[in-house]
Amino acid sequence: MNIIEELKSNKNLSDEQFKLLLETDTYKEDLFKQADIVRQQVYGKDVYLRGLIEFTNYCKNGCYYCGINCTNKNIKRYRLTKDEILQCCKDGYALGYRTFVLQGGEDPFFTDDIICDIVSAIRQNYKDCAITLSIGEKSKESYLAYFKAGANRFLLRHETANEEHYKKLHPESLSLKNRKQCLFNLKEIGYQVGSGFMVGSPYQTIENIIEDFRFLQELKPDMIGIGPFIPAQNTKFEKFEHGKLNLTLKIISILRLLFPYALIPSTTALGTIDPQGRELGLKSGANVVMPNLSPTKYRNLYTLYDDKICTNEEAAECRGCLERRVSLAGYKVVTDIGNPKTAMYNL
Ligand code: SAH
Repeated sequence: MNIIEELKSNKNLSDEQFKLLLETDTYKEDLFKQADIVRQQVYGKDVYLRGLIEFTNYCKNGCYYCGINCTNKNIKRYRLTKDEILQCCKDGYALGYRTFVLQGGEDPFFTDDIICDIVSAIRQNYKDCAITLSIGEKSKESYLAYFKAGANRFLLRHETANEEHYKKLHPESLSLKNRKQCLFNLKEIGYQVGSGFMVGSPYQTIENIIEDFRFLQELKPDMIGIGPFIPAQNTKFEKFEHGKLNLTLKIISILRLLFPYALIPSTTALGTIDPQGRELGLKSGANVVMPNLSPTKYRNLYTLYDDKICTNEEAAECRGCLERRVSLAGYKVVTDIGNPKTAMYNL
């Protein structure tokens, strides 16, 4: 059995074997091909949409890689009102979105009561939609309150599963231990959980990436979001190189073979480092895209990294553009809540 067949049938490899796939391109074509076969077995040609609402760029944390971290005094800060958020959902629903992702910095203005109020308003209006939160580390009680208000998915990338590497990317106030605990708490409450990491973040080694795979095997998330690190102006890492397309695509394929049921987005960051990035991501095993639903006037302020694409388009333009891109890549955008097909795998 060759290494790709082994990965496909065992849904696992040794560290040495992972290393070979990550460090060389010997098996690359076969890897992409088999990942796409598995993706089509589980999800057909369907591509799920998630409407991303970037509702605040205020953040109390100082993650070294992130352009909206609290030490950056050179950006204009904004918050959406509840009405603006609800308007985004209304526009999104009309465009066929059945998942709304509320993402933001860790902004103390949005207390649990405010988040719950917004979530319940969305829940009341859109019973057939998923509500995803991506608002960072909170207590288990807070996560439970949002869940009871109607949120049912949560995205929280672990960023790196290696302690030392985590310390190189974050200030002392943040810990990998807490981030991991948050993920397990979210699972226990009953959220569909998404985790993931950046590819090519400063100081990342191939061994770190293998540790990321091992952590994901332990967590068994429903969604796995990965994208290249891209430097952001006015951050500690502004002079570092961005993560590479080739490595990101190989990791998407490996993840598809390790977790056939997973929802794997082809990220905006991937589309930012290469004009065909998102299409290539889909061809390597990704099955989700997350177009922006935020009001255009705020979009260029949610600057996690430099040169982010789609910051000047209206929601409807984004939707149309993506539909064309997805179909040119050979797949099909569907109007669907886009739940993970975990049942097929008894998970
Ligand atoms: N505050 C939330 C949302 C963070 S933004 C949280 O803590 O989870 C969503 C993701 O963007 C992050 O998890 C990180 O992986 C990614 N990101 C941040 N800065 C980035 C950069 N410079 N390049 C690429 N991705 C970045």
